[in-house]
Amino acid sequence: PPDVDRLGNHTWTFLHTLTANYPTNPTPTQQSDTRSFISLFGKMYPCWSCADDFRSWKAENAPRVSSREEFGRWMCEAHNAVNVKLGKDEFDCGKWEERWRTGWKD
Ligand code: FAD
Repeated sequence: PPDVDRLGNHTWTFLHTLTANYPTNPTPTQQSDTRSFISLFGKMYPCWSCADDFRSWKAENAPRVSSREEFGRWMCEAHNAVNVKLGKDEFDCGKWEERWRTGWKD
């Protein structure tokens, strides 16, 4: 079975990097492709209990894909739902872009 922590860390890097490179003004096709990707991701993520919980969360929190800002925030909220479940600190979603796209301002 996969190492769930290593898989998770690398997968979050991929998912947040995906949102960081999402268009600011996505076309309808880009938006529907993104919804399809998220849906298939939830079926195929190879930690099955993680995938089950992700699909349940997504059922109550429909993917917001109308812009980079919306999609980035939505992904941050998805990650925070897992952080809460695991007893970790929540991440400040006002800072997702600084963490994953523009780099920390300091
Ligand atoms: P990670 O949580 O992997 O985070 C990596 C980095 O992302 C952090 O260092 C931080 O800089 C940044 N970050 C943290 N929170 C946010 C946020 N909200 N928004 C943006 N950036 C953030 N593990 C389980 O044990 N049980 C599960 O049910 C489970 N479900 C998962 C579901 C999914 C869809 C994914 C992708 C992973 C899941 N994991 C699960 C793995 C878990 O989320 C962590 O990846 C794993 O515990 C390793 O944690 P980490 O300390 O490396 O940091």
